[in-house]
Amino acid sequence: MYANVFLLSSPQGRVVVDTGALTYAPAFGRLLRQFRPDAVLVTHAHVDHAGGAFVAARWGLPVLAHPLEHPHLTGERHELPYPAGMPRVGAVISRLHPKVPARALRSVEAGEDLWGWQVIHLPGHSHGQIGLLRNGVLIAADAVLSAPDGRGGMRAALPHAPYNADHAQAIHTLRQIAELDLRVIVPGHGGPLTPGQVRERAARDI
Ligand SMILES: [Zn+2]
Ligand SMILES: [Zn+2]
Repeated sequence: MYANVFLLSSPQGRVVVDTGALTYAPAFGRLLRQFRPDAVLVTHAHVDHAGGAFVAARWGLPVLAHPLEHPHLTGERHELPYPAGMPRVGAVISRLHPKVPARALRSVEAGEDLWGWQVIHLPGHSHGQIGLLRNGVLIAADAVLSAPDGRGGMRAALPHAPYNADHAQAIHTLRQIAELDLRVIVPGHGGPLTPGQVRERAARDI
């Protein structure tokens, strides 16, 4: 499934959030050339979100990520939950991806202000997953997904347990999101969600 890429622009600066998969690396390079961001932020190191991060590094741009994601971006570690239940295949897929040199990486932590957006830690799907919050808009990475509801509409969904580093923590994080005063939740996959849709999913136990 395609991962969303966001272009954020404020008077303080410009940042691209996530890069898409490796197959989109040429398009991502064109996007960087046109948008000219100050930095690229990766919400987490999974290859569908960070597969083009090496392009940003080649452009000399800082690649911002939570420190817990850095070893996965540099290639020190190769845990990848795709395909589900096949960690050795996941490790091979991870090894085939170009990596980000450590010198290009910058650490960002919860509570930091980035160009007017507040960094929030959304652990569970991965340990160092982060989102960005501003004016009631939450860029939520894979802490929540947009999925068909079977009636022609969309609903909020959690990644299935095999895709989460810590599923119980992912549920906890979703409940914390549901308690925030938000206008819209923008997931890592699919279109925007309402707070009501997220609360409905957060109310479930599994
Ligand atoms: Zn992911
Ligand atoms: Zn994803």
